[in-house]
Amino acid sequence: MNVVIIGAGAAGLGIGWQLARQGATVTVLERAQYAHGAIWAAAGMIAPVGEGMEGPLAQFGQQSSRLWPDFAATLEAQSGVSIGYARKGALLVAADGDEAAHLARRAEQEEDLQLLNASQAVEREPLLTPLIAGAAFAQDEAQVDTRALGHALARALIAAGGTIIQNEAVVRIEVSSGRAVAARTPFRLHEADAFVIAAGAWSSGIDGLPPGTVPQIKPIKGEIIAYAVPSDAATLREVVWGKGVYLVPRGRRVLAGASVADVGFDTSLTKTVRAFLEERATALIPALAQWRVDEHWAGLRPASPDGLPVLGRSQVDGLFVASGQYRNGILFTPVLADVMARTVMTGALPPEHAAFDIRRFA
Ligand SMILES: Cc1cc2nc3c(=O)[nH]c(=O)nc-3n(C[C@H](O)[C@H](O)[C@H](O)COP(=O)(O)OP(=O)(O)OC[C@H]3O[C@@H](n4cnc5c(N)ncnc54)[C@H](O)[C@@H]3O)c2cc1C
Repeated sequence: MNVVIIGAGAAGLGIGWQLARQGATVTVLERAQYAHGAIWAAAGMIAPVGEGMEGPLAQFGQQSSRLWPDFAATLEAQSGVSIGYARKGALLVAADGDEAAHLARRAEQEEDLQLLNASQAVEREPLLTPLIAGAAFAQDEAQVDTRALGHALARALIAAGGTIIQNEAVVRIEVSSGRAVAARTPFRLHEADAFVIAAGAWSSGIDGLPPGTVPQIKPIKGEIIAYAVPSDAATLREVVWGKGVYLVPRGRRVLAGASVADVGFDTSLTKTVRAFLEERATALIPALAQWRVDEHWAGLRPASPDGLPVLGRSQVDGLFVASGQYRNGILFTPVLADVMARTVMTGALPPEHAAFDIRRFA
């Protein structure tokens, strides 16, 4: 089977890698550089508990979280790139009595959450301020270095026989008798048996399709800052979630993120968000006030109208979509790659994922 994938992010590269491993001939078309969209900007948390997921999203997230260890090991072996996958858990911190009561209620219902008092939390994370109302520890939460992940996915895809073409945007899908037959770029037509739109926040901007084929996918901007850990200092032991901020240790850096802004295709950096993140981060981890911010960046999360992923076969034969992962596209990478590769190979989204079926918007 000959498959053209539009977009070389976590979704497109992951799906392409799985399809290539299953014997498909895969070409990924990327309008800019591979793995420089949302995957490049992401904090890399594998965090179904921290994100407070519920319903089908929680099931999908937990399923993917369980797949992550094997996925990371296979990816590293096939790409030769280390991706920094680490399951060190996450500390959810309550700033006041209301948040502590909320965490206590959650801990009663969620097996994965272990309630801690302030001194137990500080014992677990010595950099944490003692001025907290309580905390909970989620031991299965993990993290990955998303910039390394993007590089690894591209290498693994190529090692499996796939091709990535950069600096070539798909501007139009050519449809004939209700079937997608080619992806048009400014340079040529790419014909294939199947096409997958995995273009992140840009997924609904491709011409040639009947109205409503891809639901409106909105860009939701997120800004993050990174602190450099001083050479004589210890870093955080795990991910820490506080009021309006999360902190993620990545090598000799600590990332503090992220804003959530519905402002269109805008990735400009703002002093206001940087000041907000610094204020919230240092309130949680006072030592950060002495550490230098060495990078500030922004990315665009792909959000669907109901906030759930948009997956499966569209109303146009031979055209598949994988988008709308919003805040969780890194968490979802293994399950989404697996589910979408099966969908392209068999022509149908597995029924257990019906909640995310693109046809719910038809
Ligand atoms: C600040 C921030 C923090 C985040 N933190 C986390 C986190 O901790 N954990 C988590 O699970 N998720 C996180 N996310 C969300 C996650 O990054 C996204 O859900 C995920 O990366 C989306 O993957 P994607 O492949 O769909 O999109 P992208 O990575 O954006 O890839 C889409 C690609 O398609 C290309 N493209 C677009 N249009 C075309 C076209 N017409 N032709 C060819 N190519 C095209 C783009 O150039 C891009 O490379 C975060 C996101 C942001 C912005």
